[in-house]
Amino acid sequence: MESNDAVQQRLARLRAVMAREELDAFAIAQPENMRYLSGFTGGEGVVIVSAEHAALATDFRYYEQVRQQAPAFALAEVTGPTPPVVAATLGEMHARRVGFEAHHLTVEEFDQWRQAAPDLAWVPTTNVVEGLRQEKDANEVRAIEEAVRIADAAMEHLMGWIAPGVTEREVAWEAEVYMRTHGAEALSFTTIVASGARGAMAHAVTTDRPIAAGDPVVIDMGCVYDGYCSDITRSFCVREANDDYLAVWRKVLQAQEAAERAIHGGMPGVEADAVARRIIYSAGYEGKFGHGLGHGVGLAIHEKPRASTLSTDILTPGTIVTVEPGIYDPAWGGVRIEDMVLVTEDGCRVLTTASKQPVI
Ligand code: ZN
Ligand code: ZN
Repeated sequence: MESNDAVQQRLARLRAVMAREELDAFAIAQPENMRYLSGFTGGEGVVIVSAEHAALATDFRYYEQVRQQAPAFALAEVTGPTPPVVAATLGEMHARRVGFEAHHLTVEEFDQWRQAAPDLAWVPTTNVVEGLRQEKDANEVRAIEEAVRIADAAMEHLMGWIAPGVTEREVAWEAEVYMRTHGAEALSFTTIVASGARGAMAHAVTTDRPIAAGDPVVIDMGCVYDGYCSDITRSFCVREANDDYLAVWRKVLQAQEAAERAIHGGMPGVEADAVARRIIYSAGYEGKFGHGLGHGVGLAIHEKPRASTLSTDILTPGTIVTVEPGIYDPAWGGVRIEDMVLVTEDGCRVLTTASKQPVI
């Protein structure tokens, strides 16, 4: 459960944005945003915040959960359709201008809200709570550190366990069992194990392909601890690697280390990406690093900020982002190495500790 202090601080930050945007109230239905603001983990309902009040509209399945997890919120009981309850709650708050999450609500849901409260001025917003979530507080950092620690231990375990003949699916299952039996409450996404040329697909699905000696392998995985995600990738060849693979592997590591040395509070995400990209492109791998350098991680596996060629985000102190350069070639596969770092005022602290080795 979130401490009442953390909840009050988060509500105060949201209310500061509402005051700036001249909003009397804000209605939030995105599950991670609801959890962040209230502590409620049920994921179904609507959090409604005004300058003075905070309410949570949800149905019978969650009444007791709201009382336990979100004591700072008045429970608005939903016994039929949700929109009339949202409208009534906003009416009690005397709201006129109401912000809603334009990037989350479906067109149909928004129509129903508007029909239930036709006299309100509905103001579309995007990523307001996501923006608040970017900088992590001490409790959030602790949860993420634990999720990272479990994933690191699982990766170390795999590097000693994988042998020629095991299939990608068997490796993924070994990783998942390890994480779940060492404290993880869930996986943060479907584990990726891509061997041979399949490693060129950055988000490959795992198959029954047996891994042979000499195969390059990319493993990308993570788990959830206390609601917070981890994300780690390691790449290696099994038993032996050729010189071309070793050259690519070293270049990716060099790009990652340069980015981790350069990242600091206030750095634009686009600049962090450029540090790694310059090293990879100038070594002759232009066009073979087709994704961004990294992304924020928290209650969601992919969140603000982005570090990519298109990013307009800033890596502010307190942000946790991945640093995951890669080089891919459909002819033989790929290499990606991914750490998570906590951005500080004058640098960053690398949270991921699993070893990096080109051959296991
Ligand atoms: Zn990853
Ligand atoms: Zn990632």
